[in-house]
Amino acid sequence: MQRVSVRCCIAGGGPAGVMAGVLLARAGVDVLVLEKHADFFRDFRGDTIHPSTLELTHELGCLDDLLKLPHQKARHLDFQFGATTGTVADFSGMKLHAPYIAFMPQWDLLDFLARRGGRYPTFSLKMSAEVTDIVEEAGRIVGVTATTPRGPLEVRADLTIAADGRHSLLREKAGLAVEERGAPMDVLWFSLPSKPGDPGETMGRFDAGRVLIAINRGDYWQMGYVIPKGGLDELRRQGLAEFHAAIVRLAPYLVGRVDALDDWEKVKLLTVQVNRLKCWYRPGLLCIGDAAHAMSPVGGVGINLAVQDAVATSNMLAAPLLARQISEADLVRVQKRREFPTRVTQGFQVLVQNRVLTPLLGGQQMATPLAVKLLRRFPILRRLAARFLGIGVRPEHIRLAPRWPEKG
Ligand SMILES: Cc1cc2nc3c(=O)[nH]c(=O)nc-3n(C[C@H](O)[C@H](O)[C@H](O)COP(=O)(O)OP(=O)(O)OC[C@H]3O[C@@H](n4cnc5c(N)ncnc54)[C@H](O)[C@@H]3O)c2cc1C
Repeated sequence: MQRVSVRCCIAGGGPAGVMAGVLLARAGVDVLVLEKHADFFRDFRGDTIHPSTLELTHELGCLDDLLKLPHQKARHLDFQFGATTGTVADFSGMKLHAPYIAFMPQWDLLDFLARRGGRYPTFSLKMSAEVTDIVEEAGRIVGVTATTPRGPLEVRADLTIAADGRHSLLREKAGLAVEERGAPMDVLWFSLPSKPGDPGETMGRFDAGRVLIAINRGDYWQMGYVIPKGGLDELRRQGLAEFHAAIVRLAPYLVGRVDALDDWEKVKLLTVQVNRLKCWYRPGLLCIGDAAHAMSPVGGVGINLAVQDAVATSNMLAAPLLARQISEADLVRVQKRREFPTRVTQGFQVLVQNRVLTPLLGGQQMATPLAVKLLRRFPILRRLAARFLGIGVRPEHIRLAPRWPEKG
């Protein structure tokens, strides 16, 4: 058994874990991030980098470098509701360094942030290190055990951060209770080739029985097809031809190209969950990101909330970690700060699910909702929607001065 001791051990190298690791290490805290996979290059898990996260990379001094990586920009999000088209959110007028959503593979973002962390001597990231349990002493969580290619590992830490996603092992081992908010749908993600002359923008198409999200990724479309919860088996029973026809009914320009979807293996199921922990911590342990709250895909804000949690965590905990005086009261403060934006965002998502998605997926022919009509009419509402989706409630900023000289 290898044994190491650090101030902060982070389980999970997703957006929450890597960002928290980078920021704490930048502030001088000795951090070890454990990620069970060998690399970041995995299944599609959402590619949306919202303006709030882009602004944080500006605060870190690396926005320009990030934007050198291949990405597409969406300056507004459009919709088609029955025959009515319009814009839901217009980011273009926001007074930000990057007033748009950048679509970039999540592995590129994670790889970029991890390389940034590599500049700081207090940052360590261990890949292929799967956390298997918490280590508890006298009611306090004092670290974790993990498997690594070099054998078992025990990490002792003043604080363990559970950033191990929506199926968090750590929160389960710590006995933290999850409150389900419910989700009536699942999402099927797949890609289709694009062609010159396609409609250029990222768009949601809503019609009785069907909802399709089309994200323009340059030479391909990233598509999200929303189905009633647990409906994949029924869809598979109906066959791929029927699925192709349903897509083309919503997006006729894809006729002839849906055939590229010739195997259900090419379709990735997102089992939608909306939930949050009642209590995000135990002495010595704090949950953040999806481990604390799984978000609905409505608004595509999961990554950004995870990043915001990471920023708040580092802002509030770096000093007590450096002083080796981390207390339960510090963890309470983090939950208090981040629970409010989580509740408001989930409340909005559940409202959209109940008022729009559930009736539509039930096959109901809906009149264009009043909110959609108002968005079409008043540009200020499109700007407010952009603020809510792009920046969110109670946005975080990096408050910590770097402990290490920032090299170019
Ligand atoms: C198919 C799909 C599509 C999505 N689309 C979008 C989107 O368009 N926009 C958006 O904002 N969000 C999207 N999401 C949600 C988004 O991916 C999450 O909200 C976000 O990644 C949460 O970040 P996180 O760091 O909290 O957790 P995760 O990204 O889940 O990261 C957790 C990490 O922990 C690792 N891990 C898990 N268990 C262990 C363990 N025992 N030991 C060590 N490591 C472990 C995992 O390998 C993973 O790397 C999507 C999710 C899915 C599945």
